[in-house]
Amino acid sequence: MNIHEYQAKELLRSYGMPACAGVVVETAEAAQEAAKGMAPCVIKAQVHCGGRGKAGGVKLARSPEEAFIAADGILGMRIVNRQTGPRGRLVRKVLVTEAVNYRREMYLGMTIDNEDAGLLIIASSAGGTEIEETAKSDPQAVARIRVSAVAGFRRYEGLRAAAALGLEGNLKEELVSLLAAMTRLCMEKDCSLIEINPLVETEPDEEGRTHLLCLDAKVNFDDNALFRHPDIAALRDIEEEDPNEHKASQFDLSYVSLDGDIGCLVNGAGLAMATMDIIKRFGGEPANFLDVGGSATASKVKAAFEILLCDSNVKAIFINIFGGIMKCDVIAQGVVEAASEIGIGIPLVVRLDGTNVEKGRAILRNSGLRIISASDMADGARKAIAAARDGGSR
Ligand code: ADP
Ligand code: MG
Repeated sequence: MNIHEYQAKELLRSYGMPACAGVVVETAEAAQEAAKGMAPCVIKAQVHCGGRGKAGGVKLARSPEEAFIAADGILGMRIVNRQTGPRGRLVRKVLVTEAVNYRREMYLGMTIDNEDAGLLIIASSAGGTEIEETAKSDPQAVARIRVSAVAGFRRYEGLRAAAALGLEGNLKEELVSLLAAMTRLCMEKDCSLIEINPLVETEPDEEGRTHLLCLDAKVNFDDNALFRHPDIAALRDIEEEDPNEHKASQFDLSYVSLDGDIGCLVNGAGLAMATMDIIKRFGGEPANFLDVGGSATASKVKAAFEILLCDSNVKAIFINIFGGIMKCDVIAQGVVEAASEIGIGIPLVVRLDGTNVEKGRAILRNSGLRIISASDMADGARKAIAAARDGGSR
């Protein structure tokens, strides 16, 4: 699960990390009001994606009047970039926060290191821009420091990160405390990613000292651990989620929406991945990842169909089932019930194999539905691609 920047910053602050507070508003008038106490300020689009600055979703306002104009322009805009996909994200609220003068921008992230079963600190003095680009063009500029999940964060790991960022004196100590807090947050709240981009070094204060400050924050959580964090689950913003993905989660279906035109309905995550691969192998594009699970009922299959059909990009459906625990006749029954109830106007390619396959095929054959049956996965993928190409009108 993903949360907004303002929520992430509050969380950071509750762990003692340095981040400015602000006011979240939904109208330009409210932004103007909020700016009265803090001009100059920055108006920032609150949507579940990065790259807001480049897309025009972050603006400086020197007066409350400028805050009105900036908020008026940002609210209602659609941020479209690589992270959002072609549909983009509608801005419904903005954060009004203090404009910070800073000397330089850095990148600091923490994620799970699957290879090492620990945590990974990612630090780069090339902050502000997309870290993925830096990692590609100049891998040396991105330091990766492992933190043991058993021993926890240790000071020397913080010092290595400080060296990678070129921090000295009090900044070095500030980074060590910040990373200690970040590790605690990551472990206690089951985060899958904490990203601060940019982490900035401020201009000197009255005593001539500069400080570290988190200007942006993204935090992702492991969905499987949400049950033990009701405080985090309460931060969920349904409006930011893909409606299909949300519906799928209510039916306990693993669904990820993609940009292609072949809807996939598969049992088992591995088979679902292989199905997407084979569609791509033959030149097609899957519209989604969908695993109905090993114990799908007819009602689950029906919900899955509805989700696939909601996507207007879907021009053909490829059902790829290998009956193991799940029996082919149960799936076939679910498909027939769903198809006759919802009415499917696009080609349906079915590949069934495994337990009770003959019974399952008979149910499909006798259903009167127009089904294109496939002998194996490759055959199914080819037929689905052909069907999407020429039969895709609905
Ligand atoms: P995104 O990563 O979505 O583009 P950021 O919060 O990182 O959004 O903002 C983009 C850029 O805007 C930052 O790199 C920074 O240069 C500037 N910025 C963001 N917040 C502030 C702030 N409070 N004060 C001054 N500049 C800011
Ligand atoms: Mg950023």
